[in-house]
Amino acid sequence: MRHTRTSINSNHGIYIHIPFCLKKCVYCDFYSLTDLTLRQPFVESLLKEMTLVKSHNALSDTLYFGGGTPSVLTPHQIETLMQQARNLFTITPDAEITMEVNPGTVTQNYLNFLMQIGINRINIGVQSFSRDTLEFLGRIHTPGDATQAIQHARKAGFDNIGLDLIFGIPGQDASSWQDDLKTALSWSPEHLSCYILTFEKGTPLDQMRKTNAFKVPPEQHIADLFRITQKVLNNAGYEQYEISNYAKINISGQSRQSRHNRKYWSFAPYTGLGPSAHSYAPPIRYWNVRDVRLYTAALAQGRLPIEEKEKTTAEQQITEAIYLGLRTSDGIDMAHFEKTFHMAFDQQYGDILPALCEENLMMLKNGRCVLTPEGMLFHDSIVSRLIQE
Ligand code: SF4
Repeated sequence: MRHTRTSINSNHGIYIHIPFCLKKCVYCDFYSLTDLTLRQPFVESLLKEMTLVKSHNALSDTLYFGGGTPSVLTPHQIETLMQQARNLFTITPDAEITMEVNPGTVTQNYLNFLMQIGINRINIGVQSFSRDTLEFLGRIHTPGDATQAIQHARKAGFDNIGLDLIFGIPGQDASSWQDDLKTALSWSPEHLSCYILTFEKGTPLDQMRKTNAFKVPPEQHIADLFRITQKVLNNAGYEQYEISNYAKINISGQSRQSRHNRKYWSFAPYTGLGPSAHSYAPPIRYWNVRDVRLYTAALAQGRLPIEEKEKTTAEQQITEAIYLGLRTSDGIDMAHFEKTFHMAFDQQYGDILPALCEENLMMLKNGRCVLTPEGMLFHDSIVSRLIQE
């Protein structure tokens, strides 16, 4: 059997990881430090990393500043990084340029400045509009800070705003989650990401769970909240284009999906810069060291700070194509799957597909295999059933 992966989207994306936060939230396992004195040496290292990787000649139609909390960088630092990216990479004139910001770290002037230097999409880490929930999560901001950040972003001229929310939080009932959704919708964001709280190993939250500091919400409750999310957001004119992501559909029928995030689900190539950032140059995945000091030291010696590289095997590629494809409302393009992996999807998984369709978890339509809204709730177990075939 011959396996090759051709990229579905030839356009390349750039991700820049800013590894600083004012304070660690109890649930977070992203790589970030609270020692802001390392910001400037980090920025200088990042400029070097960009110089070292610049040789790729890809055309990038997305640039994404994530973290961490990119908005803890000074306006001058962000501007320098933007200039370096523009000088060294080929960024399309209509590129989606996103920056994650946290309420409590941005002022009107800061957001005005981001708009002036060409950031055209803002993703705000709201997480909740409930004071108790924010305190439980260890967030630095209040609900008032979140609404102010949204207002400031609109006033600065951003017409592409995403809000992140979390549900399944201990103590959060259906009505408080509905209130969060309602408040979020009152700001008409172009994009909403609604994540289920997870108890990541090694986080203070996981430690609290182990010591029974709170009652973990039962699965049935999480499922109810997931269905509420789908219903409320669909009724408000948002499409669930990925399990956790919803995009507003405007009056001309255009959907405001995140172009950058779509790359992760569609096997487009991307370059990750900064500590812990991952890159994908099909079929190679590689990632940077998860340590600012090691990162800075490698670059000071003129070396790329890559921790490891891995060539994905054919089996991994098939699993990923199924796992990632089924996360999205586009599902798996069966003709493309066959062309790529030289096996007919509906024959390969023919024993299980009818049962999944019968259970109303999956649909085969227009040459695609797609999970139903209910199937999205059981994504992981459906993927396991398929790949065990
Ligand atoms: S602000 Fe975001 S990246 Fe920073 S600790 Fe909280 S969740 Fe993690």
